[in-house]
Amino acid sequence: MIKIKIPVCAPEISEIDVSYVSECVRSSWVSGISPYVGRFEKRFAEYCECKYGAAVNSGTTALHTALASIGVGKGDEVIIPTFTMIATPNSIAYLGAVPVLVDSELDTWNIDVDKIEEKITPRTKAIMPVHTYGHPVDMDPIMELAEKYNLFVIEDAAEAHGAIYKGKKVGSIGDLGCFSFYANKIITTGEGGMIVTNNEELAETAAWLRAHAFGRGGKHFYHERLGYGYRMSGMQAALGLAQMERIDTFVENRIARAKLYNTVLEDIEGRGDIVFPPDAKWGKNVYWMYSILLDDNFPVSREKFMKKLDTSGIDTRTFFYPVHVQPVYKQSSPYPVADELSRKGINLPSGNNLTLDDVSVVCDAIIQLVG
Ligand SMILES: *Cc1c(COP(=O)(O)O)cnc(C)c1O
Repeated sequence: MIKIKIPVCAPEISEIDVSYVSECVRSSWVSGISPYVGRFEKRFAEYCECKYGAAVNSGTTALHTALASIGVGKGDEVIIPTFTMIATPNSIAYLGAVPVLVDSELDTWNIDVDKIEEKITPRTKAIMPVHTYGHPVDMDPIMELAEKYNLFVIEDAAEAHGAIYKGKKVGSIGDLGCFSFYANKIITTGEGGMIVTNNEELAETAAWLRAHAFGRGGKHFYHERLGYGYRMSGMQAALGLAQMERIDTFVENRIARAKLYNTVLEDIEGRGDIVFPPDAKWGKNVYWMYSILLDDNFPVSREKFMKKLDTSGIDTRTFFYPVHVQPVYKQSSPYPVADELSRKGINLPSGNNLTLDDVSVVCDAIIQLVG
């Protein structure tokens, strides 16, 4: 077995993380009502330019709680891109609601904003765009549709902490924004997530639902709504606070590494077709994944490309299989762009602890492969 030397996306854990977490454990404030949770919510919400944050135990449960907070229920429809991670449709299905799929656009690899309106029906409750691989979605047309049809917008920003759309942080644009702090995301709490919003009522509902919807006004064990056991622990929040001290560095490092990848790989572009990651003028991509598409006339197949890098100790991933081909959601409608992305895409090493030297090693291996 080959030991992976350059992983696709590993977290950066250092002494400051250890000291925050141990300080939390020593304080014995370890549960979801720990003051560390409130501090982390405040800190992360501020970073997202939002007034409120509700921490939960994963990105998936952030989406689920957000959907429950706006009242999504059985038979309701929520519009999402078919090209996304499985948690996006699952969070809708958990509520007995229906994920309605839209193809992606080649410019941003995000939901095709021109194909949303045709999918709106009287049962549509929300649009849930996904800021894929750290690149912001073109939000203005989505917000206009939401206004026109009276829909909610929940941003799945699980992959895009710090990304900016026309001067606004992602997560702050829709009614609610959802983030993941899984180990490979831009900051981590091991497992974890957060809902951010500027809407006080939705913030209160989300915080209430994620912690069993305990009764108010003195009737603690009295439940008017179906709540969830989705609290984030104090230790997770402490780790999150430590990671927040470096989030700007994490994001800027990702952008610097993407620039280096672009510069070196552009030199070999003549040898075959590589499609580079999107970088729209109106947005800031934070490159959760530095990803490329290998066009059909690239000299080696994707399979061979990945195998060769693997033998050099470089870990890579193929893109998501779109929702419409997943056995649990299978549909026969065509989504050609999502299919193309899924067929051609590769995530190259992109983790927080990746160095510029690592990027050079990866690029050298790619150059050798086509040379
Ligand atoms: C990671 C991710 C999630 C789920 O987050 P977890 O913390 O793993 O539950 C949801 N949506 C997208 C787009 C993701 O990439």
